[in-house]
Amino acid sequence: MLGGGLAGMATAARLQAAGVSTLVVEAHGHVGGCAGYYRRRGFSFDVGATTMVDFEPGGVGAELLENVGMDPVPGEALPGYVGWLPDRKITLYRDTGAWHRERLRALGDTPRHRAFWARLDRLADVFWDASRAGVRLPMRRPADALHNLRALGPRGLPLARHLNTTLGDALVRHRLRGDAPLVGLLSMLVEDTVHSTVDRAPLINAALSVTIRGAGLTRADGGMRGFWRRFVAHYRGMGGQLRVGCRVERVTGRAGAFEVRTARGVVHARQVVSALPAATTARVVPALAGPLRPYLERDEQDMGGAVVVFLGVPDEEVAGQEFTHHQLLQDYGRPLGDGNNMFVSVSAQGDTESAPPGERAVMISTHTRLADWTGLPDADYEIRKNEIGERLVGLARRVHPPLGERARVWEVGTPRSYERFAFRPGGAVGGAHQAPGNANQNAVPHSLGVPGLWLVGDSTWPGLGTVACAMGSRIVAEEALRTAHRTAVPR
Ligand SMILES: Cc1cc2nc3c(=O)[nH]c(=O)nc-3n(C[C@H](O)[C@H](O)[C@H](O)COP(=O)(O)OP(=O)(O)OC[C@H]3O[C@@H](n4cnc5c(N)ncnc54)[C@H](O)[C@@H]3O)c2cc1C
Repeated sequence: MLGGGLAGMATAARLQAAGVSTLVVEAHGHVGGCAGYYRRRGFSFDVGATTMVDFEPGGVGAELLENVGMDPVPGEALPGYVGWLPDRKITLYRDTGAWHRERLRALGDTPRHRAFWARLDRLADVFWDASRAGVRLPMRRPADALHNLRALGPRGLPLARHLNTTLGDALVRHRLRGDAPLVGLLSMLVEDTVHSTVDRAPLINAALSVTIRGAGLTRADGGMRGFWRRFVAHYRGMGGQLRVGCRVERVTGRAGAFEVRTARGVVHARQVVSALPAATTARVVPALAGPLRPYLERDEQDMGGAVVVFLGVPDEEVAGQEFTHHQLLQDYGRPLGDGNNMFVSVSAQGDTESAPPGERAVMISTHTRLADWTGLPDADYEIRKNEIGERLVGLARRVHPPLGERARVWEVGTPRSYERFAFRPGGAVGGAHQAPGNANQNAVPHSLGVPGLWLVGDSTWPGLGTVACAMGSRIVAEEALRTAHRTAVPR
């Protein structure tokens, strides 16, 4: 397994649990990647993902833990979070009934609004069920089509016609494209989940994004460090091997006899799963460079970055709010990113794995354009980094007025940080900004037709996020397992 982010670790654990001997080679000093963590002065900060999606019983994440024989991870099941629009607040409740009432109250209760939400709900119901049933895209073989027919079921099949429409199309159809608060909220949700805009986001993916909180967001005790401590212990307990600080440089050979050259020696493997970003896979696995090229060229202009501020603050600075998570939009008219759409996550009170007693870990994240960070001289980079850090904390004071006044930790992560510590090429995080032309049936597949080589992770279908990585890991582990059984050497 190349790469110990969520996708790599999940795939390795599934295979190990099924009796295949696995080894994960990870460049960083510990696992996690964009769902990883770092520690500073007694705090543990999540470097990217702060919430795990659909880890409740019956969910995609829960299926992963069940599949590998691991107990549920203790944590805070978020009852929802607050969306702060420029002129109003809306609580995105996890409870479906409460959310249905709240969205009509805050965003409009006309027949058009009701019809629009009904369409989105129907798509979300069907496609969450299909996701949990292990739907597989892009379809490459008749067996995939058959499998998907079963996963979608008779009521879902007609909805597959929406594969090529966008959320913007649905808004236009319901004469709601000009409704600023509704479009503002949807824009925030689809930017965070499919890195897209309402006019480009594929409708089905957008419907899943908008309902992601209903599928359950959980922040593990101790944040991502708490999750990984348990997951790695379990993986190792099953006999899985993990080599950290071990960068992969080249993969050569063929099915049954691959040679993986790393910074710490050569490893031999019968199959190789690359859970690296697709651009890195193309660089280190020459056999996949050609097949990946058309996808990488197509998506080159569609990559994005993130900025995160990490604060270690006394409890009082985040007191007085019912919810620990908030999402803020400042201006309906400006493009999203660089603070106009940002997520504020606060560790739960009493979570002393995340922060010392009486203190809290706070992560404020926003999207950013990579071009604004590329090639900056060091001095300009420092200025930009400090300026955006100050701006994000200033904007977050709408929620927590004294935030950061007595911070014991105040650090800013940028695309340069993701490039340096998470080895993301150019600092790009997530996959490409999703549109019908590069998502679902057009997404980067898990197999490019080279026997014994697989791809998984947020640059392949279904895309970014912990739930997507868990889904991808299931598909790839099933395929790799089938191959392992076919090619097993009799003893
Ligand atoms: C700011 C931010 C906030 C987010 N918030 C959420 C959230 O709240 N909820 C959610 O579900 N998702 C969230 N996400 C998305 C989620 O974190 C990612 O989609 C997911 O973690 C990607 O996992 P991955 O395994 O595909 O890739 P990665 O996490 O990038 O893993 C790849 C791994 O490969 C390693 N690697 C790279 N090159 C090499 C090499 N040459 N040799 C060996 N190892 C190598 C890296 O170190 C890394 O560990 C967020 C992302 C960001 C950036």
